[in-house]
Amino acid sequence: MRLVIDWDGTVTVSDTMDLIVREFGDADLVDRFSDAFIDDSKPLPVTLQHVVASEMATIKTPLDEVVDWLLENVELRPGFLELAERERPLLLSSNLRQLIQPLLDHFGVEADLLANELVSDGESGWRVHFGGEICPVCGERCKRPKLPPGEVVYVGNGYSDRCPALASSRVFARCGLARYLDTIGSPYEPFGDFHQIAAALERPA
Ligand SMILES: [Zn+2]
Repeated sequence: MRLVIDWDGTVTVSDTMDLIVREFGDADLVDRFSDAFIDDSKPLPVTLQHVVASEMATIKTPLDEVVDWLLENVELRPGFLELAERERPLLLSSNLRQLIQPLLDHFGVEADLLANELVSDGESGWRVHFGGEICPVCGERCKRPKLPPGEVVYVGNGYSDRCPALASSRVFARCGLARYLDTIGSPYEPFGDFHQIAAALERPA
């Protein structure tokens, strides 16, 4: 079994991409895309890559300043550090590697990380490179093709977790992902923090 965990809103209490775009970029754009995310049963009217690229392009602050701010403002969900130490999870994120790895280093977390890449953080706005394959199921560069082979326990909360959750053997979900799975009648276990997940992993699904 491999434990695969989403980052924003799952490990972190608040979505850190929303936090930094609101702090350093165009907060109105976050609100506009949040409205687009509200329908829990339908796909987005644009690709998730378009949302990420558009929001990041409004940030003109150097990366290290943004990372310093994040280190002061991020809050991790209780139990994550303990579970990560026990399971060495794969973190699978639509956010940028350069915004996640410094936080993992700061908190002493040893985990594997697959995320998107910041290409440049210049005055003309941040530019992002989206790696990975096109998913044969949803047609986007989603997280599903990045799942490890074999049995996966997936933990997530949002839109980007829909497709990979459906490919996983066991799912822990909250917020929008939970509502989506309710809508389509797909099983999951709700969670509030990672202590609950650690306890649930001791029991068979
Ligand atoms: Zn997909």
